[in-house]
Amino acid sequence: MVNRIYNFSAGPSTLPLTVMETIKEDFLDYNGIGASIVEISHRHQIFLDILENTKKLFRELTNLPKNYKILFMHGGAQMQFSAVPLNLISRKENKGSYFITGRWGILAEKEARLYGDTEIILDGKTYEYRKIPTFNNRKLDKGTSYAHLTTNNTLYGTRWNSFPNTWEVPLVADATSDILSRIMDYSKFGIVYAGLQKNLGVAGVSIVIIREDLIGNALPQTPKLLNYDVVEKQNSLPNTINVFAIYVMNLVIEWIKKQGGVLEMEKLAKKKSDLLYDVLDDSSFYKILAFPEHRSLMNVTFNLKNETLLKKFISNSEKEGFFGLKGHYLLGGVRASIYNAMPIEGVKELSSYMKEFEKING
Ligand SMILES: *Cc1c(COP(=O)(O)O)cnc(C)c1O
Repeated sequence: MVNRIYNFSAGPSTLPLTVMETIKEDFLDYNGIGASIVEISHRHQIFLDILENTKKLFRELTNLPKNYKILFMHGGAQMQFSAVPLNLISRKENKGSYFITGRWGILAEKEARLYGDTEIILDGKTYEYRKIPTFNNRKLDKGTSYAHLTTNNTLYGTRWNSFPNTWEVPLVADATSDILSRIMDYSKFGIVYAGLQKNLGVAGVSIVIIREDLIGNALPQTPKLLNYDVVEKQNSLPNTINVFAIYVMNLVIEWIKKQGGVLEMEKLAKKKSDLLYDVLDDSSFYKILAFPEHRSLMNVTFNLKNETLLKKFISNSEKEGFFGLKGHYLLGGVRASIYNAMPIEGVKELSSYMKEFEKING
């Protein structure tokens, strides 16, 4: 028996057990071909079928409108911090607008400054990123090529419940930490992108869902591998893609489909996060980082009122079979990342642990 713990890591993060078992089974001999999927050409029909199937299934799960393309690109989510401005900023007047609601938004805006002007149209800094400030759906400046936001703030544990209207300005979303955990109307977005390592598999690759008409405007200095037009025309294979990451994503989304699809994931996310927030709300021992109205369903962030007990909370949790609960180094505290693949049993056990810890130490 392998010893699998409840893994609350923020990313890379836990994968569904059945997916891991399939990977193990397939690894030496994929589908009876006598070779591993990581040993054959990315242009071989065997891999092309996996790629096609992954896109098809993603479309099905998200009800993706026909005028959207799906691309796979190297470099994880942060590479898109560069790709987005490089491909979009030239569309109008050399400016990207940013909704800054956490750490990843800060980094995205900073990167865009290398390629054009940026404007911060919303900044959660005054609230220490513990909530999403109100945006009055005001008209954006005509000189804006796109507006960028982060759907779920992985470090702070907040999320946009509904998305702002940016009118004719294409809305670009970094959905790395909540993709396929909530129903989204993709037609409201110009681009949705996500690194695969949180809800879709392993690190190093991102999925880019892009409205067709936004392709083909890249700045002349755009590197080939970051040019959406090149990547789209060459079926995400302008060079060797990370075949393993695509293969794993295929298994993960097949698993999501089997669980009942995105709506089921959304219900489960609500249930799981409620289990933890209920314990936290009932307690005078813990304090939640996020404002109630913007709590993330994926990353539950909190601290102990008596911070001297934090170390003990973490080390005891490890002894109890929980992994990865230590908060981000910038924030400290505790972060329980409960992505799609975290079973509800793990969350139930964690909530019991939290109650027990409070009882003994409170
Ligand atoms: C984890 C994360 C990233 C960073 O992803 P990399 O693949 O490491 O570049 C970016 N944005 C968000 C919202 C994340 O959660």
